[in-house]
Amino acid sequence: MGNDKRLEYLRSQNKELVKELTHQDYVLNRTKSHLVKQQKGFKLLIELQKAIAFSNDNKDFYESVALLTISEFDMAATYIYEPSISENEYTLLAYNDIGSIEREQGPKKQLESISLPEFSESQEYILINNDSEQNELNSSLKEIFELTSLIIYPVKYDNNIELVIVTGMKNIDTVWFLDLTIEDVRIIEAVAILISSYLRRIEITRLNERDKYKTEFISNISHEFRTPLTLVTGLLDQLRARLSPSLNSEELEKFEIISNNAIRIKELIDQLLDISKIETGTNSLSVKKSNLGELLTRISKSFFPIAKESGIDFRFSYSDSSKETWFDEDKLEKIISNLLSNAFKFTPGKGKIELTLIVEYDGNRSEASISVSDTGIGIPASEKDKIFDRFYQYKPEKNPGTGIGLYLVKTLTEMHHGTINLNSKINKGSVFTVRIPIDYDSYSDEERASADIAEGSSKKEPYNNIGSLKSQEQDLPTILVVEDNEDLNNFITSGLQNDFDIIKAYNGKEGFQYADSEIPDLIITDVMMPFMDGYEMTVKLKDNAKTRHIPIIMLTAKADRESTLLGLESGADDYISKPFNMDELIIKTGNIIRTRKQLKEKYKADFLTSPDESEIPSSNDSLLKDVIELMKENLSEPDFQVNNICKELYISRTQLYRKIEALTGYSPGELMRLIRLKTAAVMFRKDHHNVAQVMYRVGFSNQSNFAKIFKAQSGINPSAYIQKYST
Ligand code: ADP
Repeated sequence: MGNDKRLEYLRSQNKELVKELTHQDYVLNRTKSHLVKQQKGFKLLIELQKAIAFSNDNKDFYESVALLTISEFDMAATYIYEPSISENEYTLLAYNDIGSIEREQGPKKQLESISLPEFSESQEYILINNDSEQNELNSSLKEIFELTSLIIYPVKYDNNIELVIVTGMKNIDTVWFLDLTIEDVRIIEAVAILISSYLRRIEITRLNERDKYKTEFISNISHEFRTPLTLVTGLLDQLRARLSPSLNSEELEKFEIISNNAIRIKELIDQLLDISKIETGTNSLSVKKSNLGELLTRISKSFFPIAKESGIDFRFSYSDSSKETWFDEDKLEKIISNLLSNAFKFTPGKGKIELTLIVEYDGNRSEASISVSDTGIGIPASEKDKIFDRFYQYKPEKNPGTGIGLYLVKTLTEMHHGTINLNSKINKGSVFTVRIPIDYDSYSDEERASADIAEGSSKKEPYNNIGSLKSQEQDLPTILVVEDNEDLNNFITSGLQNDFDIIKAYNGKEGFQYADSEIPDLIITDVMMPFMDGYEMTVKLKDNAKTRHIPIIMLTAKADRESTLLGLESGADDYISKPFNMDELIIKTGNIIRTRKQLKEKYKADFLTSPDESEIPSSNDSLLKDVIELMKENLSEPDFQVNNICKELYISRTQLYRKIEALTGYSPGELMRLIRLKTAAVMFRKDHHNVAQVMYRVGFSNQSNFAKIFKAQSGINPSAYIQKYST
């Protein structure tokens, strides 16, 4: 081979090599750019998640999507469309393209509303690139969007197209032609999934919010119903009591009907409140030791009149158990009453209804199985699960009702860690069986604890002797009634005015002012009031030295444990739930005033008889403490008077008098004198045997006067006292 030939051969070899190298370089570059693209894709998805978290509204979020596809994913333009009314027509929601900022104007007019090909099951997206078929549709899409390579991807939510993303690139340089590939489609698919999850989140928040409003609405409106209902039932009771001697049986029966209907409305309102408590998760168990047999006997008794009236054979049977039973009495009563009401509602005359209680022991656990069986219309198998749903009614046109009853039954049973089971045959009858644990250990401390709080505050001996309050005291105790509803305020007042002096206030602010200036013996207050509500007023009163000792009864219209607890937490001493019975309010008021009075008397007695200094009252009440301190400090000043205390503590004479009287049973003057005498007695016992010296030390200046007063107090004169007690 000649040199030339060899050279030529090498040259051609070189050429091949360069070609190969160039190709390898191209492949490498492509791979590299794919990798970079993929990395950018991930970055885009991360940024989008941030946008989901921080966007204020949908438009804001879609605009972020468009912008991010450009800034993070190197797209030339992105458009987000939503379907319009006509098929395959879309309206622009948000967009971004690299030129838009410079152009300072929106997209071309024809992009605001466009038609796109239909997306079929087999074709989930459209990818148009250099390899794509050069058909009319593809080129028209390229042209309209002014993109050389593009992806059109639908965002689906619940199988409906919610949005369509159009995004793509514009190649100016045909040498470095970058095409969109299936990998890019996958990234855009991930974007679509993120958007759809965003839509889901929005939907859930919206539903939750709607539900919350609904529940709040139910709770508020039920509350609104309760106040007028209190009035109606209260006035009705009064009217009936007054008129009953002159009414004939027909008229009495009408009263009975009105009364029963009012009770029914109250039950319905309570059910609504129960539901809203369940929905908001604020309903909790309050388990205590109760007698299950007795409870069921009491409930069944209330159904015997209906049974008799409708000719139904109603029986209650139970296997007697002497073991103690633990459960939430209020909730179990609701469960059983609801089941029995349904049984009576759906069982025609001459039928049979049975309530059965069986208590089963299994090792150390015990379980109650309570069943209500009827021979009524029955429930078809297809409905068995549904009837426990909230607001569900089977054939509502035939059964007037609310569809709440069984939902409550089921929820309350489950709260008891129990189960409910239904056995039914159409036209034969139904058996509902509730099983709940009834032993101490089946409930947590928390589930039992809440019962203690409520019980402790409401269980007081009945007070049936209000008259005695009157006869024993010349002055009637003063009660401050704080209630914004004028009718209800008048109603409460009218019930109490025979036994008490009444001051009326119409909101918490006014209530606080009256309490502070008048120092009543007791306050009855509503919760929801303008300017200042009952909780806030209570907290303020308990925070104020002058008024801290005044007992407060709260009228909690919401009738639930939570508002009751809130009331007790704020410092209320007791509560009554609306609608209340006037007698209950009078009894409770009398009770509290009586126990306070007894306390006062005990205090007075102790103070007199006990011989040592510690009995000079050491009080938890800070104002009383201050008063006693002042009195002790000024013991030797004969001129130290009540006026000095008032000045020193910035309170009026009347306020001081009421407060001290309420807590100790003494007037401030009496208390001062008692402290002087007590201190003298203590000194006599401790070897201070000079009567005159001691007398001066405790602020007396006249010896015969001192001897007389001392004798009146202790029964003997000072020198005899020294002889008898000194050590
Ligand atoms: P409602 O207040 O409408 O009675 P419930 O939740 O108590 O609501 O009951 C739901 C549905 O279950 C009722 O509409 C009724 O069709 C059916 N149902 C409940 N108890 C019985 C029963 N003992 N016999 C036949 N059907 C019943």
